[in-house]
Parts: sequence; C-alpha cells; structure tokens
Amino acid sequence: VPLGEFDLIERYFSRGSGRRDVLLGVGDDAALLEVPPGRALVAAVDTLVEGRHFLPDAPAGSVGHQALAVNLSDLAAMGADPAWVLLSLSLPESDEAWLQSFASGLYALAERHAVELVGGDTVRGPLVVTVTALGSVEPALALRRDGARPGDVLFVSGWPGEAGAGLEALRNGAVRNDDDPLVRRYRYAEPRVELGRALRGRASSAMDVSDGLYGDLQKLCKASAVGARLDLGQLPVSAELARHHAQAECERFVLSGGDDYELLFTVPVDRAAGFEAGALAGVPVHRIGVIEAGAGVRCERDGCAVDLRGGGYDHFA
Ligand code: ADP
Ligand code: MG
Repeated sequence: VPLGEFDLIERYFSRGSGRRDVLLGVGDDAALLEVPPGRALVAAVDTLVEGRHFLPDAPAGSVGHQALAVNLSDLAAMGADPAWVLLSLSLPESDEAWLQSFASGLYALAERHAVELVGGDTVRGPLVVTVTALGSVEPALALRRDGARPGDVLFVSGWPGEAGAGLEALRNGAVRNDDDPLVRRYRYAEPRVELGRALRGRASSAMDVSDGLYGDLQKLCKASAVGARLDLGQLPVSAELARHHAQAECERFVLSGGDDYELLFTVPVDRAAGFEAGALAGVPVHRIGVIEAGAGVRCERDGCAVDLRGGGYDHFA
C-alpha cells in the first residue's frame, strides 16, 4: 500500500530539533517562528528539478543534502544565522527507500547547522524539490553584493572547481560513486555558514559562487558598480583537482565550476591583512584580486593582461 501524504510527512519530515524559537512546527496550517528582536528575517528559496539540477541516478541522500545546502549557502552569503527551513516535495511515487535516504541527507546537514524543518508541502508530480531557508541577521551587518569599493581586496574561500570537476566526471562516466573525492565535493559540498558569520562586519560585500567564479564576480561588480582585476596566477587549485587535470583544465574548473558553495567576498584594504594569513572559521581563504573603479572583470597573469574570451574560454561570457 503506498504511503499516504499524512503518513509520509509524519514518518519522514516531522523530526523536531528543540529550537526554542519554533513556537509551532510541522503539523498545523503554518509554522510560528520567533525572530530575535532587532534582527531582519533573511529568506531564500531554491528549486532542484531532476535531470536539470541533479542527475536522474543521484543518490536520494545527496539530493536531500543539496536541496538544503544551496539554500544554506545563500544565507551564509548574507552573513545570516540559519534557523528554519520549509520543504516542498513533488514526488512521482512514495518510494520509501528513496524518502528514507533523502530525509537522512537533509536532516544530517540540518542538524550540523541546528536548523529545523518547520513545514512544507507534498504533492504528486515529477521529482522536484524546493527548499525555503529562513534565518536572521542584524540588518547593518548583512553581507550584500552591492558593498564592494575600489581598492577593496577580493577573496574566495576554499577550493572552487572541485565540484564542477566531480560533476563532469559523473557526466562522462569516468566515476560513479561517492568514494571519489571530487564526486563527494559535488554531491555533499558544505555550505560556508561559519565563514559567512565570521565575515559579518569585516567583508564589504559577499556572494556565494553558484554559476562559476568568473561569471559570479561579474554579478558582484555590477551590483556594486565597480570593476575587478582578477589574478589568474593566484587562483586556488586544490591538490585533488591538480591530480586529475592539467593546469589549463584546472583553471577552467575554478573559473566556471558552480556547485562548491564557496564564498566570493571583498575586504577593505585596511582590514585585509588579517585575511592574508589564509584561513577564517576553519576555512581557507585566498586573495585572488582587487576591486577597481570602472566596470567588468579584467584578468591578468604575472602582471600581463589575459583575454579569457580567446583560447576556448568563450563559455565564461
Ligand atoms: P495544508 O493542507 O494546510 O497545506 P498539508 O497537509 O499540506 O496542510 O500539510 C500538513 C502539515 O505538514 C503542515 O504543517 C505542513 O507544513 C507540513 N508538511 C507538508 N509537507 C511537508 C514536507 N514535505 N516537509 C515538512 N513538512 C511538511
Ligand atoms: Mg499543503
């Protein structure tokens, strides 16, 4: 007998977390949540469609992880403290093994960040997962895209490009399972929540890298009405990425890979010294360029201008 909607929610999606700011969670018509006084509610929503945002044979646990991770990453990029999530699930059937694994992936990440699932919706249809994440931040400390100023130093966290390489390896059948470190980075990337918190009051602007560093940097520049000089020689290339790919390929993954949930951020130059040491909140941070007056992203290597639109890099534009 297929599981009814009510039983499905009760069995898989009504685990509490003990958060005191959840006055009413799953089960009523809507959740009642207490936003701390003086703070702004921060809200983000992202939808994953099977075949478009995850591969049809993706392990259910990785889909649960990813659906939450993309949203926690958006909150991290605002410097918010994540608190609550809503889950809208469209399912072709109530496959209990799939649901069990999906829920474990989602709850494992939720528990690491003390986030509570407080409601949602469940319907029959093609496999589509939508998560809404809610959190809070002191409004003056929120990390926005529009705060970068000429002279600010540009940083990226961690190891962008690994997830993109993992996705490509899955796509061309080179690897299949979660044992591969690059595949793990793609399927179970960790949103940089702690780093986002640590950047409050320090970074002048921030965003998470979801469409590739080069394209996303252009968005940040546009939002701040500035330009940027990106030093290709300073791009971080992880040992794992370098083990599998030649240098030019590594650079392509770092510039255009998307699913790592790394943070791209700017720091006023008088505060940047503290970041040059290389890590914040346990996450490596890499200086990759500077913000300039003007518009657009200029790339250089060893002090010489490089045009990314030549040499097979057209797809970055
Ligand atoms: P309504 O008809 O009022 O929308 P539903 O039957 O859709 O109520 O949902 C009942 C309760 O279960 C609500 O509190 C809703 O937030 C919650 N809920 C439904 N689907 C999910 C889900 N996938 N994950 C978490 N909570 C859910
Ligand atoms: Mg409903």
